[in-house]
Amino acid sequence: MQTPARHRKLTGALVIATHNPGKLKEMRELLAPFGIEAQSAGELGLKEPKETGNTFAENARIKALAAALATGRPAFADDSGLVVEALAGQPGIHSARWAGEGKDFRGAMNRIQTLLIERGAREPAQRRAHFVAALCLAWPDGHVEQFEGRVDGIAVWPPRGEAGFGYDPLFLPDGFDRTFGQMSADEKHGLPPKGQGLSHRARAFLKLADACLKT
Ligand code: IMP
Repeated sequence: MQTPARHRKLTGALVIATHNPGKLKEMRELLAPFGIEAQSAGELGLKEPKETGNTFAENARIKALAAALATGRPAFADDSGLVVEALAGQPGIHSARWAGEGKDFRGAMNRIQTLLIERGAREPAQRRAHFVAALCLAWPDGHVEQFEGRVDGIAVWPPRGEAGFGYDPLFLPDGFDRTFGQMSADEKHGLPPKGQGLSHRARAFLKLADACLKT
């Protein structure tokens, strides 16, 4: 019989290692039911570390550990992005970078569409994409817990909806007829008891909650 993995439990206050207001809002929504108080790296004036990893998981770990070491408190980070299969996985870990300093996600979505059309990808089957979220909880002693979630769908054109953030208006999850940009936050997360987790971040978060938040 396999021994179940032992996970470290999180109690008390937490630092959310993000400067991205869209992600911060979603992380707070996800943590709220567990009574975890959270301050953000932005609110604490922490510097953003360089994301030098080659994977979502490595970058989440870099951000969470930097915040845990700087504050002496447990820290929570997410690294996420949109992976477009016909574009060899781009923008992937560079999803934020594609929008540039000005956070021009319309421009980034246009770039995806231009590249897809250059490759002749007009049919839904040629436009497969998924969002990935890697979550990392890190403690000041260097202990980390990591979890990953993914949601599959297609990159539609034109983008639809004004809700959410980033690439939400471009992404139509499988089994739905509305993009993330057309969904309320509740619908996008799809959390229990109504759902079993829809967004990549919610799916990763449910794994984390199961391992590290529930007693
Ligand atoms: P990073 O994890 O801070 O490197 O940034 C990830 C980038 O991926 C974000 O700035 C968004 O552009 C994109 N992204 C990640 N999750 C989502 C999501 O749930 N909706 C839309 N865009 C997302």
